Amino acid sequence: MSGRLKGKVALVCGAGAAAGGWGNGKASAALFAREGARLILTDISEDALQDAAAAIHAEGADCVAIAGDVSRAADVANIVEKGHRHFGRIDVLHNNVGITGNGQLLQQTEEDWDRVFAINVRSNFLLAKAVVPHMLDQGWGRIITVASIAALRTRRKPGHAYTASKAAVIAFTKTLAIEFAAQGIRANCIVPGAIDTPMVSRVLRDLGLNDEQHSALVEQRAKLSPTGTQGSPWDVAKAALFLASDDSSYVNGLELIVDGGFVCLAPE
Ligand code: NAD
Repeated sequence: MSGRLKGKVALVCGAGAAAGGWGNGKASAALFAREGARLILTDISEDALQDAAAAIHAEGADCVAIAGDVSRAADVANIVEKGHRHFGRIDVLHNNVGITGNGQLLQQTEEDWDRVFAINVRSNFLLAKAVVPHMLDQGWGRIITVASIAALRTRRKPGHAYTASKAAVIAFTKTLAIEFAAQGIRANCIVPGAIDTPMVSRVLRDLGLNDEQHSALVEQRAKLSPTGTQGSPWDVAKAALFLASDDSSYVNGLELIVDGGFVCLAPE
């Protein structure tokens, strides 16, 4: 099927990929473009943003790229104002931005905790506040947030800020879904499992592992899913397309888990 987003304008935040290649946001933007959407792309990294814009142009689609930090109200206002001025509408808000932070309690600083919450949670609040008025004018809108299975299942070495922030994203999505349900707006959250993105490869590389240790960790991630493999950014993108389109017209406040069945597994 094609043309599922014909005539729609989608704002994709975190549209780049932190280390090149295809991340979840960039794959979602490309799939939206293939289905007929015009794109407003944003990312904090100018290089990643230009790379994403080139990918959208390669799909033969129209896009405008506006750099910014979506945890900052001034940047969000600028992105939404310029994007809306360019295309005259915003139908889909897909906020894919997320960072992991430093992890365990005794190493966690207040600054890191606040930074993770600003980028992972406040961004969703600021973006929704800026975009919803346009969706209300149009009488139609799709808001897609991105959490993580870390919010549902805690591992032995938890990243407290990441886990708590992603749980907050799920809760915020549900309250948004309820507030605007009668006005044609749907808000749903994608909850990815272990996805093979360049960001993950970079994190593993930054751990300073040798090739053997690196392969062992990749294998460990793959085993998290009963499928025996990590997901791909395109698996997340397909979920985003479903939530962006009219295919999900009566789906609202959902946690759409994309993990190959990981959360169904009982501990061994
Ligand atoms: P990624 O780091 O490649 O992509 C995120 C993009 O967001 C990057 O291009 C980055 O530059 C951008 N960004 C970061 N901070 C920003 C800010 N303040 N303002 C604007 N842009 C900013 O990561 P990814 O692996 O593709 O993950 C994308 C999303 O999926 C994240 O929310 C992540 O938490 C979530 N997720 C990923 C996995 C996984 O295994 N990869 C698992 C669960 C959830």
